[in-house]
Amino acid sequence: MAQEVGQELDRSEVLQRPMPREQMKRIIYIPFDHLHRTYGALKDADPKTDLVVFVESARMTTGRNWHKERLFFLISSARHFAASLQEEGFTVEYVKAATTIDGLKTITKKHKVTEIICAEPSSFRQYEQLKDHGVSFVENDFFLTPRPLFNQWASEQKTYLMENFYRKQRTRLNILMEGKDPVGGSWNFDKDNRLPPPKKYEGPPYLEHKRDEIDAQVAKELGHTATTTWATTRKGALAQMKNFFDNHFGEFGPLEDAMTTDNWALHHSLLSPYINNNLIHPSEVIHAAMKAFHTGKVPIESAEGFIRQVIGWREYVNGMYWFLGPDYRDNNQLKATRKLLPLFSDPNATQMNCIKQTVTDINDRAWVHHIPRLMLLSNLALITGTNPQAFLDWMREVFIDASEWVMVPNVIGMGVHADGGQMMTKPYAAGGAYISRMSNYCKGCQYNPKLRTGETACPFTTLYWDFLDRHKETFAKNHRMSQQVFGLNRLSDLPELRERAQEVLKGLEKGKI
Ligand SMILES: Cc1cc2nc3c(=O)[nH]c(=O)nc-3n(C[C@H](O)[C@H](O)[C@H](O)COP(=O)(O)OP(=O)(O)OC[C@H]3O[C@@H](n4cnc5c(N)ncnc54)[C@H](O)[C@@H]3O)c2cc1C
Ligand code: SF4
Repeated sequence: MAQEVGQELDRSEVLQRPMPREQMKRIIYIPFDHLHRTYGALKDADPKTDLVVFVESARMTTGRNWHKERLFFLISSARHFAASLQEEGFTVEYVKAATTIDGLKTITKKHKVTEIICAEPSSFRQYEQLKDHGVSFVENDFFLTPRPLFNQWASEQKTYLMENFYRKQRTRLNILMEGKDPVGGSWNFDKDNRLPPPKKYEGPPYLEHKRDEIDAQVAKELGHTATTTWATTRKGALAQMKNFFDNHFGEFGPLEDAMTTDNWALHHSLLSPYINNNLIHPSEVIHAAMKAFHTGKVPIESAEGFIRQVIGWREYVNGMYWFLGPDYRDNNQLKATRKLLPLFSDPNATQMNCIKQTVTDINDRAWVHHIPRLMLLSNLALITGTNPQAFLDWMREVFIDASEWVMVPNVIGMGVHADGGQMMTKPYAAGGAYISRMSNYCKGCQYNPKLRTGETACPFTTLYWDFLDRHKETFAKNHRMSQQVFGLNRLSDLPELRERAQEVLKGLEKGKI
């Protein structure tokens, strides 16, 4: 970025209509993921006395190898939101600074206002930094579950099963309930929601979002050619939500685990970036989902599947992040030490069709859905013994919707089982058969998902068995894994498999497999 540290943005569209300074009583600091007018610290804000501050910190923009589409989305959304507050009559300061604290110091000095308030931040690090700087917090109400309520639930559990939390959420929030019973007679329709992709599946087109001057300015500063995939305004985010409920909701469930080269998003909502930066509050998503369900046109398996993601998984993951504490991200219970493989950043560094396609999709638009994240990327990191923190850092950098609170439990707990089973009772390790069943990737691949040894063996299949073999002592004690571990005994070719696994791991490191 060309701008100097501490320098204010030279953008008249953001800094119009300043209020007389003496009227300003307090600063409301808005992190880039608190972009909602009626939640968080802005809920009770008064344009006459509140000065609203945004800080675009160099740590956030240049500190790491962030995907430019991700930076573009976050920055442009924040600048649009800042402009909308100004239109409403607020005095807004949008500064660039080395760190958030430096930016806040600059503004405090300039306006001689010392009281700073903010909604509780969404990561441990930001929480501590702001607290140490004397910022007062108001409750973070950007989720459906207050942090103390989740802590209470978790501290009463022997195991932290998401399913138990989800049922409690359904009842507490009275969503898809008939009295005490779940609508449709079941809490879960997962068995209906595992269809493979239909052949040559196109589906309705996805929305494209027009770019404006603010977008163009942000893209220019980043040296980036932005896609038209992601909205950067509340209006655009609401249009995306409407498009999902009008055109995709009904099909969401059955195809939610499928992967196909014919259609990069299938019927996923593409709403996570907006719910995470709060252009849309999760309660607005649930309200729209229930309204669509009540038309009678959406089957229960799709409605329940989607509601589960939003009121179940999303809330559970956030709750677990705060419950498990700041050290949780450093877990490495399987002692995985491999460096990040080159294929994660370069799709040409692999011949594995599924990974090549997935990494290309990420490079194109900073997004793939939950099954490629879990069953391709995380699965590969898990069975190759890749260091969990190296993989976590990469995932944080490349996804449009990545934030610490959501990536840490999803990767460390769910993705690579680095927490020894605190969150998930068993690792999501799988061979090529699963990928072959749920996608059309294998048809275009030089490897064969059915083979575990030999030059054309699918690396997933070989490494799946090798992973079980390497960790058999650990997993034999786990009753949910014992059957899989027992399967090792039936392999007559274990010595060749171990040899092939070493060849595959070396080939992956060299970018040749
Ligand atoms: C290893 C791994 C890493 C992930 N990292 C992230 C991340 O950094 N940010 C993120 O928002 N989601 C993450 N997810 C969850 C999920 O993959 C994305 O939320 C989803 O792909 C976003 O696309 P969508 O909005 O079309 O989701 P949909 O499939 O349409 O689902 C609807 C909504 O449910 C929520 N949701 C579903 N699953 C989860 C989950 N496991 N955790 C949190 N929210 C969930 C999201 O808000 C999503 O928008 C991760 C999942 C895995 C397995
Ligand atoms: S054969 Fe294996 S590597 Fe190739 S696409 Fe299928 S699962 Fe991926």
